[in-house]
Amino acid sequence: MNKEQSHRKHIPLYAKILLGMGLGLGFGFLAMALHWDGFVHDWVAPFGAIFMRLLKLIAVPLVLVSLILGVVSLKDIRNLSRIGLKTILIYVCTTILAVSIGLVMVNMMKPGRFFPKDKQTEFVERYQQTVTERQTQMQQVQDESPLQFVVDMVPENLFQAVGNNSKMLQVIFFALLFGVALIGVGQSKTVSVVRFFQQLDLVLLKIIDFIMSFAPIGVFALMAALIVDYAGDMGIISALGMYALTVVLALAVIIVLVYPTLLRIFSKKKLGQFFKAVFPVQMLAFSTSSSAATLPLTMERTQKHLGVSEEVSNFVLPVGVTINMDGTSCYQAVAAVFLAQVIGLDLTFSQMLLILATATISSIGTPGIPGGSIVMLMIVLDSVGIPIEGLALILGIDRPLDMLRTVVNVTGDTTVACVVDDTKK
Ligand code: ASP
Repeated sequence: MNKEQSHRKHIPLYAKILLGMGLGLGFGFLAMALHWDGFVHDWVAPFGAIFMRLLKLIAVPLVLVSLILGVVSLKDIRNLSRIGLKTILIYVCTTILAVSIGLVMVNMMKPGRFFPKDKQTEFVERYQQTVTERQTQMQQVQDESPLQFVVDMVPENLFQAVGNNSKMLQVIFFALLFGVALIGVGQSKTVSVVRFFQQLDLVLLKIIDFIMSFAPIGVFALMAALIVDYAGDMGIISALGMYALTVVLALAVIIVLVYPTLLRIFSKKKLGQFFKAVFPVQMLAFSTSSSAATLPLTMERTQKHLGVSEEVSNFVLPVGVTINMDGTSCYQAVAAVFLAQVIGLDLTFSQMLLILATATISSIGTPGIPGGSIVMLMIVLDSVGIPIEGLALILGIDRPLDMLRTVVNVTGDTTVACVVDDTKK
């Protein structure tokens, strides 16, 4: 190894990502001041788009391969159902807790009262088109049978499932089925198949290493483009300041109180070690706003830096990235009650409970992509009679809040992986 290589190796990933983010932010503000919007749009943003594509490219094969290996390494179906049930139970409990925190926060801070009434018509006009588009998507979801989501989990064509990033639940279904069948056939007869997947996993990890070496440039471009896109929208930030603050505080409670408490009670991991390991994952989630795109790094850090066994992380993380979204569900509760406050709708206790139920369920169906929860949020609003058009009031500030809730989503998955791993005996 030459001097330059060894020097490069010593810069930790989090420092590189942080540097990329910091420089991207700085460059974004500079570009905004100097009106370089066109340059950023044409020559910087594409690098962010390439980085996002690479991360998404690897997400589906990674979920498929690691989940199959996860199931096989559990060796028998009883182990799988025990760990599976435990994982789902913890995921549901943390989600309910997250929504409750959101509800308490928004009822305490009442951000709806601070929203300037004159902005209401302006925002409704500005986001009319986006709301109409989302509304059509929501109606499609609502016209279906209540069991449609179960039907949707079952793929009718494997290649269509793996060919569509939004069909992650179908990929999970197939991986579980395949893994269970491998166990059923028996270890001695499936040695080569299992070895094939193990070797494939090594190759995927290598690809992730390559992609991650591009991370500093990728996050630089993503941040710079984001700042330039937001340039004209500072008015929105001030009008929605109290709402944003409520979301931020609720999410902070989850990160600072809920997860550390869970780790202290149920895991042997030291908090310092946990947050050090998870920091680059959080930074990447923040820059990409996508927990699915962050999955490769989440898996690598959870295994290598937190020492969570492969059998647990290969199972808990791919499932979590799809169904466990504490940040998203908490945000949906705050957003729904905020909009009710703005339009002067007094929600009863049973309506709050309805929000608790719908936000919990809808976060399970939310894809781990930027803005993934918007359509699902409409279902939450509709369940308690809040006009869907109200969404226009909060869309303008959605991206920064999305970045933060994605950070919570990935931290939640990692926390649960540690808890399941340390309580598996
Ligand atoms: N962007 C979020 C995620 O990927 C989903 C959402 O809340 O919109 O986790």
